[in-house]
Amino acid sequence: MKTIVVLTYLLSSVLFILGLKNLNSPKTARRGNVLAMIAMFIAIVVTIYDKRILNFTFIIAGILIGGIIGAIIARKARMAAMPQMVALLNGFGGGASALVSLAEYYRTVTELHVSTIISVVFSLFVGILTFTGSLVAFSKLQGIIKATPITFRMQHILNLLLLLSTITLGVMLTLNPANIFILRAILAVTAVLGILFVIPIGGADMPVVISLLNSYSGLAAAATGFVISNKILIVSGALVGASGIILTIIMCEAMNRSLLNVIFGGFGGSVSEMAGEAERRSITRYTPEDAAMMLEGARSVIVIPGYGLAVAHAQYVLHDLAKILMEKGVHIRYAIHPVAGRMPGHMNVLLAEANVPYELLFDLESINNDFQNTDVAFVVGANDVINPAARTRKDSPLYGMPILNADKTKTVIICKRGLNPGFSGVDNELFYSSKTMMVFGDAKESITEMVKLLKV
Ligand code: NDP
Repeated sequence: MKTIVVLTYLLSSVLFILGLKNLNSPKTARRGNVLAMIAMFIAIVVTIYDKRILNFTFIIAGILIGGIIGAIIARKARMAAMPQMVALLNGFGGGASALVSLAEYYRTVTELHVSTIISVVFSLFVGILTFTGSLVAFSKLQGIIKATPITFRMQHILNLLLLLSTITLGVMLTLNPANIFILRAILAVTAVLGILFVIPIGGADMPVVISLLNSYSGLAAAATGFVISNKILIVSGALVGASGIILTIIMCEAMNRSLLNVIFGGFGGSVSEMAGEAERRSITRYTPEDAAMMLEGARSVIVIPGYGLAVAHAQYVLHDLAKILMEKGVHIRYAIHPVAGRMPGHMNVLLAEANVPYELLFDLESINNDFQNTDVAFVVGANDVINPAARTRKDSPLYGMPILNADKTKTVIICKRGLNPGFSGVDNELFYSSKTMMVFGDAKESITEMVKLLKV
């Protein structure tokens, strides 16, 4: 019997790993999700079977209530609201791990082994920090509390003191496992630490923090796996922990920032003075009609989607425009910057939603040398990812970030509402270039206009 359980857990672990592997590419991502779901289903069934649960009432009630709430939220969440939804789910993951550890602590408190109590402390610490931190991240992104960094004097020193207190309390609990007061103190201090860890970080940096908290929720699950001696929980928690931290590092690298800078930097909270320069230089406004004519006359166009595409919900009409242009013989490709939008894979998800074929999507490395041989770069709601300051201005927060070489094409068409800066808060000199056609307006409205004009 034990062997069957171990072998089945091994099968789930392999399926989890294959699932993650398949998430590498948009083409196989759906399959990856299905594999991971099967793995989770197997793991749940075997765990219930292994533990020989006598009363299923609570389990069924939990699955039904949680499942229904989860399904409703997932169906209702808009694509642009995905980061806060992920924040909430991470928080619940961390909270659930902490609750399981807490239950195990109360159940076996008199016979707790030292290694188990250490795992309990770790699981509670990371799980509760993830829970309260994620709730703050969710509230910032949802506009429940202000998204700008909330800072006060000696904040980092206070956080350090709270961290040291948790470690001290953890050691004390390990020496006196039955002392409930120490346990409660750990819960309280960790909950406060989670809140204080996230409030100084600006709303625009939240996606990186959410990815980090996602990694923490995995670590909490792995620690809980040690508490209840469940191998699949250890493996799946470790996978989430590792992939979360890799994603965090990738996001930081793509933004050319260090993780410490994200956590302590207070970046993205305000608009820089450079934005003011924008008002003083002249730009040439073009109409959707001008842009439609330019696109129709081009041989090759590279579309650069950005965060504004998500805001405008313009992916469907953009695809319609691309199809019309392709029928007219224009060679269309989409250039996807790794940090375009506000979450990893944001543009891939949006374009997949509109059924844009994967073959038309190219990542930065594979398309960047082709801009110089392309007639038009068609920029839809992107800004930072095409800002040449990343190459030239050492004083810019973007300096060093790899950008898409939109400025190397013959003509650049930029669809955005005005001269507002993007996430980094800095002006974009490309707006003022003689080769740039600025088409002001909501991206969906401008492109709808272009579609109407080109259809006739
Ligand atoms: P940006 O944030 O640089 O710019 C988005 C632009 O969209 C704005 O300048 C805005 O200008 C325009 N916009 C907003 N609404 C609309 C609309 N309805 N129609 C048309 N345009 C609109 O976006 P990018 O995608 O270029 O860059 C992403 C930035 O986010 C990078 O700096 C990246 O580092 C950062 N980031 C990315 C993360 C990720 O995982 N992808 C995570 C965290 C940060 P206007 O108001 O004038 O219309």
